[in-house]
Amino acid sequence: MPDEAKIPKEEIERIRQNILAQVKNFPPDKADELREQIEAMPDDEFVDFLRKNNMTQQGESQEQQCIFCLISEGKVESSSVYEDSEIIAVLDINPLSKGHTLIIPREHISKTENLKASTFEKARMLSSLIKKELNADSIEILTSSRLGHAIINIIPVYNNAPLLDFKRQKTPKESIKEIAGKLAVALKDNEQKEEENKAMEQKAKASEEVKNIRIKRRRP
Ligand SMILES: [Zn+2]
Repeated sequence: MPDEAKIPKEEIERIRQNILAQVKNFPPDKADELREQIEAMPDDEFVDFLRKNNMTQQGESQEQQCIFCLISEGKVESSSVYEDSEIIAVLDINPLSKGHTLIIPREHISKTENLKASTFEKARMLSSLIKKELNADSIEILTSSRLGHAIINIIPVYNNAPLLDFKRQKTPKESIKEIAGKLAVALKDNEQKEEENKAMEQKAKASEEVKNIRIKRRRP
């Protein structure tokens, strides 16, 4: 190896552990396979793998491997309920309660204090819908910065259980998909209703204006 600097053994181990930690957030079936692969790789093969994927620089690998960026780019499978140019909303695969939703800004914002007001607005819109659809008693909205990507958690509360008692629940993928499907449909309906309401309002306003004009004309 003439000009490629040798990576110290401790550094290789550190990167390996770092990647393994991030693999935990992949869908379970994929995570197991990847973990086995990474653990079984001899050091030299692992370094080759890192170089091929441009992951020898820690900063770069963090950015590239950010699970939320990957979800946003559609590179990791997720149960999305809503998406637009600014955010994607997906169900947590290990939810704290039924319908635990993550609002992921597409931009890799690392500090929760830098989350945009419009993102919170969307979180509020989604939470009232989730509350209604899943018959939750209330909704907790919490920000977090897991793996350096700031997100908003929408956590439905049932039977008024205190949030501190919540534990992550392994939930079958099918049931997550089912809830996501239900919410996505409700959201679409909601959007449509809103548009219809807007159209009706405009119509009402227009006829009101026409009436006003008529009244004015009658006067003289
Ligand atoms: Zn990210």
